[in-house]
Amino acid sequence: MLARMLRLRLLNAVAPAYFFAATAVTFVLYFCFFLPTIFPSSAQSPTGGCSASLLHTLVFLFLMLNALGNYIMTVRYPAESAHDPAAAARRVVPPPGPDGSDRVDAHYLLDGRHFCKLCEKVILRRDHHCFFTGNCIGNRNMRYFIMFCVHTSCACLYSLVLGVAFLTVEYAISFENPLTFLTLLPLSTGYFFIGGVSGLQLFLVIMLYVWLGIGLVCAGFCCQQVLLVARGQTWCQLQRGTLVESRSPWRSNLRDVFGTRWGLGLVLPVQTVETGSEDAADRKPHTE
Ligand SMILES: [Zn+2]
Repeated sequence: MLARMLRLRLLNAVAPAYFFAATAVTFVLYFCFFLPTIFPSSAQSPTGGCSASLLHTLVFLFLMLNALGNYIMTVRYPAESAHDPAAAARRVVPPPGPDGSDRVDAHYLLDGRHFCKLCEKVILRRDHHCFFTGNCIGNRNMRYFIMFCVHTSCACLYSLVLGVAFLTVEYAISFENPLTFLTLLPLSTGYFFIGGVSGLQLFLVIMLYVWLGIGLVCAGFCCQQVLLVARGQTWCQLQRGTLVESRSPWRSNLRDVFGTRWGLGLVLPVQTVETGSEDAADRKPHTE
């Protein structure tokens, strides 16, 4: 039980470091390798190359800054019942589950509130504990978390496309055959050990798979979260099998989470819900 908690706490510390390392690597690869190679400032088409380069840089920065901005917002507005002293007073360590396990989501329900062992807080409308942000996703930061997933997914898939373009231009690797992507990693690894492929090329190939993996996982996770929000339910409820039909229509559920200015949230990592109405939504009784 103790070893499991230690593992989870270690994961809670390693996952954000992994996220920042992957972000830093993506920035370096884009500005030091992709941009100068794919869009060289050629003398033949100075304006065309320059405008394409500028356009791609703007798209890249837009996606990356929105992902980082929403990451910061997710951490800055943690989900908890901070305005509910009664819930804080009931902050006790929950007993182990029926099977004696001490799982990270072994929360208990108390008036619709959940206890997270890693955050050691009573969380309002807890959805799950996100290891990459190191805190719980719930009532206040769900909107930022979903936007974080959207922009991270787009940024990863966009980086994947640029990475493929870079390998094509720099190393003349053709991706016309769909099977190329499947055989790229084993072949590159083999050639690396016999000295036929540089360390940078192997690292780039690995990054292609990392971007593809993160991009697809974030996209799938985002779709699932939006569906749950529209149904007025949380991942916690889904895991516990306590799914009930929401009494509110899906539009109202989405508005509760994303606010009326949800369109602004798609392009800027800003608050889209008035603080007053958010507090009112927190005080709403929740049906389990
Ligand atoms: Zn938590």
